Formats: sequence, C-alpha cells, structure tokens
Amino acid sequence: MKSIVPAHRTLDIKYAVRDVILVAEEARRRGRDMLYLNIGDPNPYDWRTPAHLIEATCEAMKRNLNGYSPSSGISEGVEAIRREAERKGIRAIREIFVTTGASEAIEIAMTALLNKGDNFLIPYPGYPLYTALLSKLEAEARPYYMNEANGWQPDVEDIENKIDERTRGIVLINPNNPTGATFSKDTLINVADICRRKGIVLFSDEIYDKMIFDGSTHVSTAALCEDVCILTFNGLSKNYIAPGFRIGWCIVSGPDEITREYTEAMLKLTRARLCANHPMQFAIAPALDGDQSHIDEMNRILKRRVELTDRTFAAMEHASCVKPGGAFYAFPTIEIEGEDSDFVKELILETGVVVVAGSGFGQRPGTKHFRMVLLPDDDILTRAYERIGNFLASWRR
Ligand code: PLP
Repeated sequence: MKSIVPAHRTLDIKYAVRDVILVAEEARRRGRDMLYLNIGDPNPYDWRTPAHLIEATCEAMKRNLNGYSPSSGISEGVEAIRREAERKGIRAIREIFVTTGASEAIEIAMTALLNKGDNFLIPYPGYPLYTALLSKLEAEARPYYMNEANGWQPDVEDIENKIDERTRGIVLINPNNPTGATFSKDTLINVADICRRKGIVLFSDEIYDKMIFDGSTHVSTAALCEDVCILTFNGLSKNYIAPGFRIGWCIVSGPDEITREYTEAMLKLTRARLCANHPMQFAIAPALDGDQSHIDEMNRILKRRVELTDRTFAAMEHASCVKPGGAFYAFPTIEIEGEDSDFVKELILETGVVVVAGSGFGQRPGTKHFRMVLLPDDDILTRAYERIGNFLASWRR
C-alpha cells in the first residue's frame, strides 16, 4: 500500500525539548540512574498547584459549567486579567482573550498576521514553539541573537539589521526560556521603538513574569509604550504551577486605529475554535487576585538553586554559565569538540543526566550550550552537576 505523505509544512518542525525523551528512554533501558533536568514543567518535580485553583475548577465542574464558554473567555477571567494588566501598568488595552495555554494565543496571533513569505524575528536562543509555528504557516523564522557577553540581553542592533519590508513583528521572551535572563527597561524601550518606527507588531511573551529572583521587578513591555501594537502573552502554566490546565491569554494593547483590524482577525479565529477549557478558566480570577504566597516560596527556592548553579559552574572547567535572574532555566556554554547535540546525547546515555542541547533553541554559529531546568531538588542538581563536570572533563577537545 502507498504510504500517506504528510504536508511539507511539517518537515522542518522540531521540538528538541520533547525529542530528547527518546534518548532518555534508551539510557533508562540501559539501566542508568536517571536525573531529569530537561522538563520545563514544575509538577513532575513535585511542585504543587495552589489548592485554591484546584477547588475553583472542581467547583465549576460540579456546577455543570462544562459546556462551551464565550470564545474570548469567561468574563470573570477576562476581568481578572484586565485588573492584573492594569496593576502592571498596561494602559491602552484593546482586547483580552483566553486560550488553550499561551501556546494557542501565540498561534492565533501569528495565524492572523502572517502571509506565506512574510518573516518574523525570533530570538536565538529562544523557545522553539515560535519556529515550529512559523514553519507551519510557511513564513520565515528570522533569528536575531541574544548577547551572552551582555547577560543574554537581546542584541538590539542585530534586530534592527534583520528587518526588511516582509518583517511583520518581533518576539521578546522576558524572563527568558532558555537563558533565564531578565531584560532591562532600556532594552524593552529600544525594541518597542524599532517596532514603532517600522510599523510592526511586538510579541511580549511574559509567561514567567512572577518568577524573578535577581532583585529586579518585572516590567511589562506594554507598560512602557502605548503607541505600539503589543501582544502580551501570559497564563497559568508557570507562575501558578498548572501547565496541564492549559490556560493562557493574550492582551492586545496599542492605538485603536492600528490594532482594530488585526484584533478582529484574531477574534474570528478564537470563534472558529469555539473556546478554551471552560472549567479551568474559573482558576484565573482566584490565581491572579487570590493568595500569592506560593510565588515567594518558589522564588526563594529557585534563588538558592541559582546560587548553587552559579558556584558550581564558576568552578567547573570547560564550562561557564550566565547567572539566571528569572524563569527556571540555566543555559551554560561548553567548550567541546563536535556538536552540542552529540555531547548531550552521550551525556544522557553515559551518565543518565538529561538536558537539552543548545542547538534545539538556536544559538550563534560556533557556540555550544545546553539547557537545564532548576526545578529538581538541590540534591539531584548537585549530583547531576558532578556527573556533568566529570563527563565534560573526559570529552575530546
Ligand atoms: N512561552 C514560553 C517562553 C514557554 O517557555 C512556554 C512553555 O514552556 C510557553 C510559552 C507555553 O506556555 P503554555 O503552557 O501556556 O502554552
């Protein structure tokens, strides 16, 4: 029988974060003692969703709120997001819609904007969803680089140089996955200024905005300028330890005359897919307006692990790591011969330590990294770092 041929648009779609699981399975079969530092999900590491969020969704289900919701989301949720946006200083809010994770909001925003052949500026390194979506839309993912020597801040000059007449927008991820960087106000203002001058859209992915432990205060890009079309993405997955709820949202801000048509196109797409999970939307208001004590606790623990990581990598030969200021990732650079993907594969098979190769996130040519998460407990991290250090020492160079 003739095999069914998939669409070309799927050929370039890669997702290193999940692809690494196959190698980890092989290592487990070989009997390795596994230490997983690859999963960007707090729950498998025993972090718990706050109880009041669980109660709110169960209560909604018991009240039979299990039908479809309005396409933009339930009003209690949307209003809570509006209050939160106002607390963060976002003023020119034009629209808010709730989605199946921030992932769906990003997909809707890109689908409503891009034609085949358009390009979108995405950070290298950055979160691979953006590249995958652009492949799917047959648009070009055009990388701009993050500056490792400058604490992984976006290279604003590179952004400026990469823009042409088919560029429709720029993605900023702050705090950043995979580097853990938090961006300065000046950087945000400079990128917004480029968008203003070029008449393009700014996607500000702020899904980790409450996970900050470098003493800074997170500033939403949209709070810094009202005259640019900015889409702010956020959700319950990370700050509220509930990725499986699949609740995210998009806040559209900017002048009405430049955002109106685009917003209408996004809303059409939200209607076509009916709605996000209805009962789970009842967790939005309790999350944003309710008890936030788990956030201080989470940041206190993550800060301790950042210090541990910083101390260990400062002393490790053939590696160095910019100290993360937010999110829950670190992205060390490694001096090795060969590709980082080969290094990581061997590391997993030989030591059982699972990390993701830097090439899966994009990086400057010639540089080599891996991404690890700081969610496992201190003991697991200590053991994993020891194995990484030893393995690195034995690698050819
Ligand atoms: N944006 C970034 C930067 C992420 O790291 C992730 C998940 O890891 C997402 C978006 C997806 O979030 P959600 O679970 O809300 O779809």
